[in-house]
Amino acid sequence: MRSVIALKGFIALQYFDPPNIDKSILRKAGINETVLVPIKPFKGALPQNCLNNVKAYIDSFGGEVQLGWIFSIMGNIALKLTAHAVVKTKEQKFLCVTPNQYRKDKVRFSPDNGVNALIVNNFLPQKLVPLLTNKMLDNYLALEREMNDLRLANSGMVSQKQVLDIQLKAQVLYPSILQLAKENTSQKDYCFCGSNKKRAKCCK
Ligand SMILES: [Zn+2]
Repeated sequence: MRSVIALKGFIALQYFDPPNIDKSILRKAGINETVLVPIKPFKGALPQNCLNNVKAYIDSFGGEVQLGWIFSIMGNIALKLTAHAVVKTKEQKFLCVTPNQYRKDKVRFSPDNGVNALIVNNFLPQKLVPLLTNKMLDNYLALEREMNDLRLANSGMVSQKQVLDIQLKAQVLYPSILQLAKENTSQKDYCFCGSNKKRAKCCK
């Protein structure tokens, strides 16, 4: 999912889902187990609408809702956990029925029934985890959380002024955050721009 405070006109720095996320990174977010869940969207399933997709699927084919987390990273400096719903079929197998912008075959998923308690106004929560100790990174992630909280509090309706206020603050921090991402992305790592190419073949 694209960062809500990604800014036009800047070199792109965005959350993306690389082919592999190291276990040590997931452990920093308290995630010890993940499963690769096959993605099979049905006709009419919408992106970023997983809970409704799952409910519609269950109405037709049975099964139950399984909540949990999917993962994306930003420049090897931050991990995002996004709540996600998949189907738990009658055969007790997980099935993702939501179109995925990153991949078509399987999605890395960590089942967590605790997500249910975090759902406000039908909005699925996110968690942002810094992968290194840095004051500016903390401030940057705090702005992202502020944006998420606004969405939650207002059922998705956020005023232009509120968005602009947060974006202006993020803009001040952005060059440092981009620099930090560059410093922490080796030539062999997937590029911080989210192209899913190794950095050696992507951004300088
Ligand atoms: Zn790149």
